Amino acid sequence: MNCNDARQLLEICADGEIGAGDGVRLEHHLEDCSDCVDALAALRGLRKLVREGTTYFESGTVEALR
Ligand SMILES: [Zn+2]
Repeated sequence: MNCNDARQLLEICADGEIGAGDGVRLEHHLEDCSDCVDALAALRGLRKLVREGTTYFESGTVEALR
């Protein structure tokens, strides 16, 4: 997965509609790419203003962003 792929999945992830397979692939990318972690944090921040909710990620790398 490259960053372009990851960014598309981030959008889906932020909406809470990501599939398990894509979620795992995305999480692996996030472990190596701080840029995309930042992008996800920004997306989550935006979505959180609109809708409080939990997406695919319940633990792991992304948990540290909260
Ligand atoms: Zn990336």
